[in-house]
Amino acid sequence: MPKVAKVSKVNVVGACEGVKLDKRFYVPGVTIETSCPRCNADRPIHLADRYLTSPTVGRPHDAMGYCPDCDLNWPVMIRVDVTVTAVDNAQAEAGEGVKE
Ligand SMILES: [Zn+2]
Repeated sequence: MPKVAKVSKVNVVGACEGVKLDKRFYVPGVTIETSCPRCNADRPIHLADRYLTSPTVGRPHDAMGYCPDCDLNWPVMIRVDVTVTAVDNAQAEAGEGVKE
């Protein structure tokens, strides 16, 4: 077993782009606020319940809005980004980081 030492340098570089995500990609906690183009009713897209179909990281993607009253769909252009952020060890120990 290797010994574990305190970190002396962490630098996250680069950007994630072009990676294809799951066929059914849910994003719990994120809501797209949109309204029906016909009746103007608020029809938010809750991404905890409605999945994106194979979005590609860093590229435009059409999410679909839907109005049950008008039985109408409309595309909403969004982009899914993935970021990796270095976290201070003190913050991680305070519970802001998740150890897996
Ligand atoms: Zn409508």
